[in-house]
Amino acid sequence: MKRSILDLLALQEVDLRLRELEKRYKSLPAERAELVAEFEVVRTALAKAENIVKKLELQIKSLEGETAAKKAHLQEVRVQSGTVKKVSDYNNVMNEIAVTEKAISDLEEQTLLAMDNLEKANIHLEKANRHYRATGRTVKKEVLELDALKETILKEVTAKSIESKQLEKKVAQSTLENYKILLASGKGVPVGKVQGGSCSNCSLGLPPMTLNEAKKGNLVHCDNCSCLLYDPEPNE
Ligand SMILES: [Zn+2]
Repeated sequence: MKRSILDLLALQEVDLRLRELEKRYKSLPAERAELVAEFEVVRTALAKAENIVKKLELQIKSLEGETAAKKAHLQEVRVQSGTVKKVSDYNNVMNEIAVTEKAISDLEEQTLLAMDNLEKANIHLEKANRHYRATGRTVKKEVLELDALKETILKEVTAKSIESKQLEKKVAQSTLENYKILLASGKGVPVGKVQGGSCSNCSLGLPPMTLNEAKKGNLVHCDNCSCLLYDPEPNE
C-alpha cells in the first residue's frame, strides 16, 4: 500500500479515537447529574422517615401529658368525693370520675397505638438510614471515578490532538481538506475500504473505473456516501 494512504489511515485512527473521547467527555455531566439525583431520592426518603418518627414521638409525649393531667384530675375528684354531703353532688362527682376514667383509658389506648406505630417507623427509619449510607458511599465513589475519568480523557485528548496535528503534516493538502470535511460530519469513517467491489462505509457497489483506480493503489471516493476509499490489496 502507498505510504500516503498509510499516513492517512494513521491520522484517521488518531482522529477517530479523539471523536470517541469527545463523545465520552460530553456524556459525563449528564452521568454525574444522574448520580446526584439518585442520591437525592434516597436523602429525601430518609428525611421523610425521620419526620414521621419525630411526629410520633411528639404525639406520644402529648398523649402522656394529657393522661397525666387527667390522672391528677381524677385524684382531685376522688379526694373531693369524700367531702360531698348532698346526694346530687355525690352523683355529679361519681359521674365525673367515670368520665375521667373513660378518658384516661382512651388516651392510654391511643398511646399504645402510637407506640406501635413508632416502633414500625423506627424500623423503617433504620432501613432508610442504611440505604442512605450505602447509596452515599456508592455515589461518592462513582462521582470521584467520573471526575478522575474526566481528567484522564482531557489528558488523552491533549496528547492525541498534538499527534493528529503532526500526522496531518504528512497528508496532501487536497486530501486533507476532503478528509476533514468528512470527519467533521461525524458520520461513519472518512476513509473506508474497497470491500468485494463495494464501499465499506455505505455497502454500495462501486463502478469499474473507481475499482481500477483503487487497484492501482490510489485513493478514490465513493459517489454515494462521498467517503474516501482505498483498496487494501492493490496490484503493486
Ligand atoms: Zn460509500
